[in-house]
Amino acid sequence: MAATRIDGKAFAAELRQRIADQVAALKAEHGVTPGLAVVLVGEDPASQIYVRSKNKQTVEAGMNSFEHRLPADATQAELLALIGRLNADREVHGILVQLPLPDHIDEAEVINAISVKKDVDGFTVANAGRLATGQRAMVPCTPLGCLMLLRDLLGDLSGKEAVVIGRSNIVGKPMAALLTAESATVTVAHSRTVDLPAVVRRADIVVAAVGRPQMVKGDWIKPGATVIDVGINRTEDGLVGDVDYDAVAAVAGAVTPVPGGVGPMTIACLLANTLTACCRSNGLPDPKGLVA
Ligand code: NDP
Repeated sequence: MAATRIDGKAFAAELRQRIADQVAALKAEHGVTPGLAVVLVGEDPASQIYVRSKNKQTVEAGMNSFEHRLPADATQAELLALIGRLNADREVHGILVQLPLPDHIDEAEVINAISVKKDVDGFTVANAGRLATGQRAMVPCTPLGCLMLLRDLLGDLSGKEAVVIGRSNIVGKPMAALLTAESATVTVAHSRTVDLPAVVRRADIVVAAVGRPQMVKGDWIKPGATVIDVGINRTEDGLVGDVDYDAVAAVAGAVTPVPGGVGPMTIACLLANTLTACCRSNGLPDPKGLVA
């Protein structure tokens, strides 16, 4: 039987609607509008597309969107000064610095200058540490989106064998932390893993976050497993994931497509985190169904 195609696009649209409803209620009941500030340094074309799309979806959800564009030769001091101003701005509840930054800028120093409470990407050391130690954190958007899809499909994840391929700070490591918190048995695989196909074959849940087109093959997959493809690879044949979709779909129980799987969840989760940050900064309970 062919695998279920996990429709991340539809799930994300429904999530954005729920966020918009909660934003409207927040405005009506408390007179507060969540605000997201996006900082873009330079002219990277892919970053420009992402920023435009984030801005559009933020406004559609009823939130304020503040865009700050700096030239490619902006200094680190200028960028840090801007972040300082945004940290102090009461209308700004979330701050996102679009990566990658130009080479002359120390990315870690800039990210860590963002207030922990406004770090809606969850990339600061403080939020990563909170997630790793089971404290209330801002969770990185892409793994949060993956977790939402997994919970929706599978319900309780406890006791499941999960293999995360990739150990980056923005996807692999937080994904592993979230799955561990769900009481899954988690293996983190990477470029030095010996016999990756055999490791992946153990998994009830596979999350591929590698950046190699269609690397995960059908015969790596345990029949019935759930496969989440985070990869976004631009090839001559267009956009493809890290998973060989057709071959994997013939064996798996469910798979996310690329595009239309994890990608749309990422921005929806950014909006969710901004709403959460706004509620927390106003001493209100966390919004329902949006937090890890
Ligand atoms: P990184 O390049 O930071 O990390 C890639 C990871 O894959 C590393 O841990 C690396 O191992 C591992 N790896 C590389 N080659 C192999 C291999 N042959 N076998 C096993 N593991 C390997 O990437 P990101 O985590 O930032 O992104 C991963 C993918 O997800 C990319 O395609 C990216 O575009 C996409 N992405 C998609 C998002 C979305 O919204 N859908 C958001 C963020 C990323 P090692 O550590 O040993 O080098």
